[in-house]
Formats: sequence, structure tokens, C-alpha cells
Amino acid sequence: MTSTSDKHQDIREAVQALCAGFPDEYHRKVDEQRGYPEDFVDALTKAGWLAAMIPQEYGGSGLGLTEASVIMEEINRSGGNAGACHGQMYNMGTLLRHGSDAQKKQYLPKIASGELRLQSMGVTEPSTGTDTTSIKTTAIKRGDRYVVNGQKVWISRIQHSDLMILLARTTPLAQVSKKSEGMSIFIVDLHEALKNGMTVRPIRNMVNHETNELFFDNLEIPAENLIGDEGRGFKYILDGLNAERTLIAAECIGDGYWFIDRVTNYAKERVVFGRPIGQNQGVQFPIAESYIEVEAANLMRWKACELFDAHKPCGAEANMAKYLAAKASWEAANACLQFHGGFGFAAEYDIERKFRETRLYQVAPISTNLILSYVAEHILDLPRSF
Ligand SMILES: Cc1cc2nc3c(=O)[nH]c(=O)nc-3n(C[C@H](O)[C@H](O)[C@H](O)COP(=O)(O)OP(=O)(O)OC[C@H]3O[C@@H](n4cnc5c(N)ncnc54)[C@H](O)[C@@H]3O)c2cc1C
Repeated sequence: MTSTSDKHQDIREAVQALCAGFPDEYHRKVDEQRGYPEDFVDALTKAGWLAAMIPQEYGGSGLGLTEASVIMEEINRSGGNAGACHGQMYNMGTLLRHGSDAQKKQYLPKIASGELRLQSMGVTEPSTGTDTTSIKTTAIKRGDRYVVNGQKVWISRIQHSDLMILLARTTPLAQVSKKSEGMSIFIVDLHEALKNGMTVRPIRNMVNHETNELFFDNLEIPAENLIGDEGRGFKYILDGLNAERTLIAAECIGDGYWFIDRVTNYAKERVVFGRPIGQNQGVQFPIAESYIEVEAANLMRWKACELFDAHKPCGAEANMAKYLAAKASWEAANACLQFHGGFGFAAEYDIERKFRETRLYQVAPISTNLILSYVAEHILDLPRSF
């Protein structure tokens, strides 16, 4: 298949070679067992792929979001799910851009070597949802510590991570002039936190995605674990969210191509009424439409990557890339399931698994409506609705 995604062929081929050792059966079994693809993530770590964005001085490869997105895309295009490990890429970016030299020296080499995993980011709360600036989790400074109280929900990969980036309010909402001020981010040692005020409750969900509810009851974090300046955490986290949205756009693009490859091959082979189903335009057109949409989403993904890597504002492009890619992969998933007929529902075809996995991205990490609202109000300058 010719496509605009043929950039960075060297990285693609190397990641494809690694992924070839983890075929459909591997990912299917992990899904069936509601397990974690430990061997796969280990292999990616050992090969250095998850340290792609860590500068060479700290033991990584010093690559940009562009290359990181290619790695994530290829994982999903191979039939896997980068959701098991993409957290490290964008969380590490937050630490890299806003952490102190001491923090970078302390954590980055160990993250690069695989000794530590920084896979989790705690933002969402049960009572505030998408309205992030209303979060109720507080971190109050007492001497050389911050004391954290509150609750988070849907915090992923906690059980397969050593560190988490946590967003908490350090100045009450009533005392700030802008609601985006007065929040801070911290690097939390999860093993220490578990012994010291943090409780984890796993949430079983539609996808095999390890995610949890977290409760903080006087969790103490050393003051030196504050990232950047107190009160500016929301601004810092937005950078990470732009990276996250762009990487997830790339994953959706990988999914989109996977669905299109599968359905195209099947439509050529499956004979009904004496001819391949793919000879019918009723079958061809939705597949062709999905291909057009995945290709178009891909262009926006490259634009978002370029801007992010050039340290230029990329909020609009990251959001639009994620919107287009999530929509395109979902349409491709629907076409793939539809034209496999009953077989699409059989687990051994892997379509129902990928279908569930790609559906998530209409809701997380940001729901489609909120992207539309961002574009309406921040790009088109329409009146604010909230
Ligand atoms: C599997 C999974 C993993 C996740 N991992 C993480 C994680 O690691 N870390 C983390 O912090 N969060 C995580 N999340 C949370 C995720 O980011 C949120 O679920 C998502 O942002 C939506 O928030 P919400 O669920 O609170 O929905 P709500 O904010 O309650 O919104 C519900 C619905 O209402 C719509 N809506 C709300 N307000 C408006 C409005 N003003 N206009 C129009 N429509 C509106 C939304 O579009 C949405 O469809 C995860 C979620 C899932 C499901």
C-alpha cells in the first residue's frame, strides 16, 4: 500500500522486525487473559524504542516526537496496542521539558535503561471529569514535603509503572486569578506512595487496558519532586497532553492501516454470489473512504509532530490530528468488521479486539466533543460555552 506514512523507513523496518516476534496470537492471548504484554514491552525497552525521546546524554536516542510517533504507529499497525506503553514517551517529555537538571539526572538514565518505568499520569478525577481546572486533589506544602489528599480515576498502567506524574491543586481555585493557575505537577514514586497513603483500585473495562482509581490520604511527597514552578503545572501538563494526543493519533493511523489491510485482503478472497465481495462497490467504497480519511489524518499528524519538535505551539494541530485519526480508525474498524460478516466477531480474527481498542480513542485521552469545543472557541473565536 503506498501511503504518506512511508517516512522514516529505517525505524519502521526495525520496529516491524521486533513486532514480528509478537504475532496476533500473542496479543490475542494477552487480551484473553486480561494480562499485560510484559515480554513485548521488555523487548521494546531493551531495543531502546521506549527511550527514543530521551536525549543521548541521558542514555536515550535523542529523537523527536516525529520518530516516537512512527514507533507507536508501527506497534498498532503490527496488530499490537501501544496503549500498554505509550505513557512513557509523553510523560518523559514533561519531565524533559520542565524538570530540573537534578531530576533529569536522577530519573532519565534509569528510564532509558529500563530500570524505571514512567508510564502513568494522574489528571482525571471522578467528580470533575474533563473540567480539569476544577480538580479537587490538593497538595499542601508542609516543610520539605507536600501532603496530597484527594482521588483520581482512570489512571492507567499504575501496576506496570514505578513513577507517575500527578496533577494537584496547590492554591485553592478561589484564590487564583485564572482557573488554570495554582495547579502543580509532581513526580510520584509509586512504590513509596503505596506504603504511605495511596490506595489503588483496578477498574475492569471494555479494553484490556490496565487502569485504576487512586485514593490519596495524606500522601507525603518530598518537595524536590515538584516539577518546575509551583502553580504552573497545568501549563506544563498541556505540553505532555499535546504529545499524548499526537502519539495517539499515530496509533490510530496504525490501527486504520491495519483494518484497511485486513479488510482489503479479505474482500479480494471472500467469494459470495460467485464473485469476490470486494468487486461490489457497496463494499469497495467504505474501504476506499476509510483509506482517504486515514491518509488525510496522517498529514495532520506530521504537522503536529513538526511543530512540537520545533517547540512551536501545536495545540490545534495535536487536537485536530487526534480527532481525524481517531475518527478515521473507527470508520476503518467498522468497515473491517462489517465486511468480515460473522467472522469479524470471532476472536481468532483479532478484529473485534482491535475494534474495541480503537474505540477508546473517541473518548480518551480527550473526548471528541471537547476537541470540537477547543477548535470552536480557541481557533474560531466563538463565544465560550464553559
Ligand atoms: C481506558 C481509559 C484510560 C484512561 N487513562 C487515563 C490516564 O492514564 N490518566 C488520566 O488522567 N485520565 C485517563 N483517562 C480518562 C480520560 O482522559 C477521560 O475519561 C476523558 O478525558 C473524558 O473524561 P470523563 O470520562 O470524565 O468524561 P466527562 O467529562 O464526564 O464527559 C462525559 C461526556 O460528556 C461530554 N461532555 C462533557 N462536557 C461537555 C461539553 N462542555 N460540551 C460537550 N460535551 C461535553 C464529553 O464529550 C463526554 O463524551 C482514561 C480513560 C479511559 C476510559
